[in-house]
Amino acid sequence: MVKKAIILAAGMGVRISDIVKDIPKSFIEIDGKTLIEHSIDKLIARGIEEIIIGTGHIDTAFEVLKSKYKCIKTVKNNAYADTSSMGTLALCLKECNDDALILESDLLYDSTGLDVLINSFEDNVMLVSGFTNSTDEVWIDQDDNNNLTYLSKDKATIKNLAGELVGITKLSKDFLNQMILKYNENIDVYKKKDYESVIAEVSSLNTDKYKKVKISKLDNYAWCEIDCKEHLSRAENIVYPKIKEKELSRKIKRNILLNPGPATTTDSVKYAQCCPDICPRELEFGKVMEWVSLELSDMAGGREHIETVLFGGSGTAADEVMISSCIPKNGRLLIINNGAYGARLAKIASVYNLDYTEYKSSTYEMININDVKDKLKSGGYTHLAMVYHETTTGLLNPAPEICRFAQEHNIVTMIDAVSAFAAVDINMIRDGFDFMTSTSNKNIQGMAGLGFVFCNRQSFEKIKDIPMNNYYLNLYDQYKSFKNTYQMRFTPPVQITYALHQAIIETKVETIAKRYERYAACWEILQQGVKDTGLKMLVKPEHQSKLITAIIEPKHKQYNFNEFHDKAMKIGFTIYPGKLSDADTFRIANIGDIYPEDMQRFVEFMKEYFKFLKGE
Ligand code: PLP
Ligand code: MG
Ligand code: MG
Repeated sequence: MVKKAIILAAGMGVRISDIVKDIPKSFIEIDGKTLIEHSIDKLIARGIEEIIIGTGHIDTAFEVLKSKYKCIKTVKNNAYADTSSMGTLALCLKECNDDALILESDLLYDSTGLDVLINSFEDNVMLVSGFTNSTDEVWIDQDDNNNLTYLSKDKATIKNLAGELVGITKLSKDFLNQMILKYNENIDVYKKKDYESVIAEVSSLNTDKYKKVKISKLDNYAWCEIDCKEHLSRAENIVYPKIKEKELSRKIKRNILLNPGPATTTDSVKYAQCCPDICPRELEFGKVMEWVSLELSDMAGGREHIETVLFGGSGTAADEVMISSCIPKNGRLLIINNGAYGARLAKIASVYNLDYTEYKSSTYEMININDVKDKLKSGGYTHLAMVYHETTTGLLNPAPEICRFAQEHNIVTMIDAVSAFAAVDINMIRDGFDFMTSTSNKNIQGMAGLGFVFCNRQSFEKIKDIPMNNYYLNLYDQYKSFKNTYQMRFTPPVQITYALHQAIIETKVETIAKRYERYAACWEILQQGVKDTGLKMLVKPEHQSKLITAIIEPKHKQYNFNEFHDKAMKIGFTIYPGKLSDADTFRIANIGDIYPEDMQRFVEFMKEYFKFLKGE
């Protein structure tokens, strides 16, 4: 699938210069957002990993975009005033040795256009629309097999009219290379050509039908370009309302999950699951899994230090992989247990007959770090396992401090970061984590179905000689096999992997730091709401993760969790029961694609439901 896009944005926009004095044409705003950002957001939502923008006129304006979107690169055409779009494209192609979508920057378009190109079986496809009567049309000529032969603004020169050029084209790496060869034959001439005429030229020269550019026509496509004042008014009054209506029709019902994962996802992550069928043993899919692993490694401390091994399975599968694969027969394991997930690590150790000791600590008070350190120093342990964020209560354990100490004492550390990863700032090297687990459906905001085990490469080397205790869940075997074949040993969840690919793209756009800020802003509203309602939180605020909150259930006879749950559900919120044996709580998580206004709405509902606490 195409992963890159090039936006040609060097032009001066001379015909609209009275409106765009100090900005590039693509910075015209429609509905409070610039044209180019409308386009960038659509490309990102469609799984594009990297966007190259060819700049020239007022190139400094694009710096803002570059700092907002890490996936953007800019390439400046210094000679923009004397060249045309082919000159800019040629420079961009120096940065892109890949298949790519080529887009004009002054477009406003419905994202179906991208879908049609991306989903096309053809490698080279040009998007063509029916007649817009917008003036300044570029007319497309085609042969009998819908191949592009010629294009022109002069309609009289067209023999077999296909429609109008939109300005979005998918081209293969080979085709783009051919364009560059043409360009290099006579740079002085070609740099002054429009990129689209060079596409037409190369397409008509090619005799191999697979190397021609296919026309893909949408008769009633909602799109426009903005070259002049009249175009702008058409964009605002006719085209944009049509685009919005189409987008509304594709929206998926939004449930707000306040349970601790699977979390609320974006529509683009949901739609990423609708992908072409592919045999997961094909290299193309192997490359997707490799990309996912490398990007996850970057989020955990850097691909140069960390290996991420994927398994089809939930978070518990990842935990079981880690506990069962990393401890040799003569190892001695200390497990910190201060909640249901610490207890689960111990359960796994017991099933595998490991030599382990549980260190039990309060479920709602901070772990006594010194006591743990004493145990680690004197207990003869070789391994430590603990949960970073105890989802049972929202208690954030001091995993980095304990793990750094453990490593100093040659104890291998294993962290369940299932509900911490991609929200809490983690760097496994800095934090002293040798092995760590997480999953696709929590803070990374993907779908459930993939578990990950992150491995510090140095520690990882040491486990290769441990005999296999199990088969499907064996860490080193899975790793080695993937490295050799680009395949998972057993059938991976293909569509979940594509959703995760999309979720990672979106996490990189938001950044983990900003995501945590968003989550924390939701938590602030929640904790204030809890107070205002007259309820109490189980854990002291300073020890909380700000990702999930355990709230003590009131003793009031009118309180009934199921009723509370069902009423919340009716207005779109899913809340979660408690999981402690020694305290009655319910839990509200604030992870996933949710925003402060969602939490505000929930808090209003909660206050209304619990009115009886105040005798109302
Ligand atoms: N570990 C922690 C800390 C969790 O929060 C969870 C799930 O909430 C798990 C493990 C288990 O994950 P799963 O339910 O995906 O098996
Ligand atoms: Mg035009
Ligand atoms: Mg234009």
